[in-house]
Amino acid sequence: MEAIVLYPTPAIDHLIPIVELGKLIHTYHPLLTIHILIAPAPYNAGSTSPYIASVSATNPYMTFHSLPSVTLPPPTSLHHETLIFELIRLNNPYVHQSLLFISKTYNIQALIIDFFCFNALSVAAKLNIPAYHFSTSGAAALNFKLYLPTIHKNTTMNFKDLNTLLNIPGLPPLLPSSDLAKLLGDRNDKAYECFLDGTISLIKSAGIIVNTFESLEPKAIQAVSNGLCVPDGPTPRVYHIGPLIATYNVRSDHNEGEAMPECLTWLDSQPSQTVVFLCFGSLGLFSIEQLNEIALGLERSGQRFLWVVRNPPSKKHSLAISVQTDPDLDSLLPEGFLDRTKERGLVVKSWAPQLAVLNHDSVGGFVTHCGWNSVLEAVSAGVPMVAWPLYAEQRFNRVVLVEDVKITLSMNESEDGFVSATEVEKRVRELMDSESGNKIRERTLAMKDGAKAALSEGGSSHVALTKLVESWKRQ
Ligand code: UDP
Repeated sequence: MEAIVLYPTPAIDHLIPIVELGKLIHTYHPLLTIHILIAPAPYNAGSTSPYIASVSATNPYMTFHSLPSVTLPPPTSLHHETLIFELIRLNNPYVHQSLLFISKTYNIQALIIDFFCFNALSVAAKLNIPAYHFSTSGAAALNFKLYLPTIHKNTTMNFKDLNTLLNIPGLPPLLPSSDLAKLLGDRNDKAYECFLDGTISLIKSAGIIVNTFESLEPKAIQAVSNGLCVPDGPTPRVYHIGPLIATYNVRSDHNEGEAMPECLTWLDSQPSQTVVFLCFGSLGLFSIEQLNEIALGLERSGQRFLWVVRNPPSKKHSLAISVQTDPDLDSLLPEGFLDRTKERGLVVKSWAPQLAVLNHDSVGGFVTHCGWNSVLEAVSAGVPMVAWPLYAEQRFNRVVLVEDVKITLSMNESEDGFVSATEVEKRVRELMDSESGNKIRERTLAMKDGAKAALSEGGSSHVALTKLVESWKRQ
């Protein structure tokens, strides 16, 4: 009997796409069993247990294997990503044990790992198992990762001090170095070191599977297949198999058998394509001052809106990586705001069922932090975006979506990331009610068709996944 093993980062937003990948692979090769290694999360990254229980109950070919807890050394970096890298490194002996255990019953065809799990590549090599990277972000982010070792060699400066324009193959020219993820700011930081090691490991893998599709990011994909991102060696085979969209909603979302959330009922009462949805991923948080500017901007824009609001960041964490309590909206938002906008706006506390919202007929625009899952969900629903990147590779995604793909407007922030009420008002109006908004809406709808075509028989993503699965059958 044959199996593949998946090894995600233990955060819900990484687990869901890799499980979807497992499900998809299984439809192409129904004899395969899918095994998923679950490392314990080093911080609150969303509870995974209900999701795992639901997937196990409905997909008998999938088995989850929990790895034991490990004691992490005291943090040496301020970036929370370092905890994940460390956790995965320390889990290697248990990954080894689990792979040996699974291989007693199954012939393991492949180990597919998340970028943060790159340390497990050495285990796979020892056991002679082909190991693949799975990129939960798009082709542009992959090009950057593949090219980072080259940039690293060509400078001795820290990115945070570099203040230059970067030329990354396949990306819009002259990207500001300030658009790089914050964890890359200081090359002597542990987070940078781990990330760089991860990027170096990409070329040692048997292949890279990317959650994107060819017509969404043609330039980035062409550059990789021309070998431009790895100038001093061969590029591993890259499979663009997306868009993979999660069919399960986490937290208080609308899953089968659950009551319809209030925001969906509210959307039912709004006219077609008129509501702008504002939602900033699983981790995005804003200061009270910023929440106030958003509120004033929305109010002045005169547009209908559905807005997900969380409590502001704590002193300790700028992102929602600790347990979140629901916000007290009256004390957070400008006085009278909720009352004045109640005919045309709804504020949801902490979390909304984004996928269902984006696919609701009343929704006509999306202000997003540009997390890759959100981008793919918007594209698949045909909803044009305003990009307001906050963390990780989101600034990169913005540049590509605004300049290359042209399905997104850009929220212009000041140097410290602050966005004024005037800017929010202007951009929301532009998105919902202007010629340029209409143009990007048309392009987004064309991209939605492109996504469908990529996944259908003979489409680019279908062909890529067929090739990958066939290569395992030949082993
Ligand atoms: N999400 C949601 N409701 C929310 C916030 C997020 O359903 O209120 C979902 C969203 O649909 C997406 C995921 O959480 O599937 C966030 O992933 P993304 O890659 O966009 O951002 P990240 O959280 O990784 O920054």
